[in-house]
Parts: sequence; structure tokens; C-alpha cells
Amino acid sequence: MDDCIFCKLVKGEIPCSKVYEDENIFAFLDINPVNHGHTLVIPKKHYETVLEMPEAEGVALAKASVKLGRAVKKATGCEGINLLHNIGKAAGQLVFHAHVHLIPRFSHDTMRLGWDRKKYESRAQEEEYRKKVEAAARK
Ligand code: AMP
Ligand code: ZN
Repeated sequence: MDDCIFCKLVKGEIPCSKVYEDENIFAFLDINPVNHGHTLVIPKKHYETVLEMPEAEGVALAKASVKLGRAVKKATGCEGINLLHNIGKAAGQLVFHAHVHLIPRFSHDTMRLGWDRKKYESRAQEEEYRKKVEAAARK
């Protein structure tokens, strides 16, 4: 896509710190890392989010993310990794070309994930959501 920044990185029109490339996948250091070594893994082909990707390409992205997760761990000596997809504006997505964040984590780093948990109001309400998601997953 012409006006997509990540497509421009893939095509080499804008420089980036590339760490991996194969037929379908491209990976590079995030320009504004949460911790040093923060890596983004993307499909070379433009999809707005991972939800639009055909299954085989999703599998390739998942495989590359695992491989690069190991690489980031080895290279940075991190204690953990947050593997994140921000899907949609409400989830914090700023760049609308599907990407996986591999964020190296350390016990005493400054990253905070704000997980303000709710409870289901009743067992019946939880069952209502269970049924809806189960039905949607069958299609
Ligand atoms: P998201 O909020 O999940 O859409 O995150 C997009 C990420 O892309 C952010 O962490 C940015 O720092 C990163 N980013 C944006 N432009 C570039 C670029 N030119 N090179 C590397 N990373 C970038
Ligand atoms: Zn793109």
C-alpha cells in the first residue's frame, strides 16, 4: 500500500534496523523501543491487522515471531518477553499494517500493562459470552 509506513520499510524506501527477512516476513527494531531490542515482526504483504490475514500467512507470522522471540531473548538477555498484537485503534494500534511486538522484559523495568480486570455479573452472563464466542469460532 502506497501510504503505509511499514510497506515503505519493506520496500526499502525508508531506512530501518532490519533484523530478519524471508519470503513472507520482515522484522526490524522498533524506532521507539519500550526496552532496547524491542522488535516488530510483520508480513511483507499489507494487511491492516492480523485478523485479515489468510491462515497460512498467519501461521508464517506466528512461526517467525517464535523464532525471533528466541533471538531477542538470546540477544538481549531479557528475563521475559511480551508478544503483543495491538488490533484496532481501541487496542492502541497506531500503524495499520499488521505487526507483532516482541518486547524484551526485565523484572525491574518501567513498562506497565494496565489490566483493570472486571468480573462477570453472574454465571449466566459468563455463559452468554462463552456461547457467543464459541458460535463465532465455528464459522
Ligand atoms: P502500534 O501502536 O502497535 O501500532 O505500534 C506501532 C509501532 O511502530 C510503535 O511502537 C512505533 O514506535 C513503531 N514505528 C513506527 N514507525 C516506525 C519506523 N519507521 N521504524 C520502526 N518502528 C516504527
Ligand atoms: Zn503496509
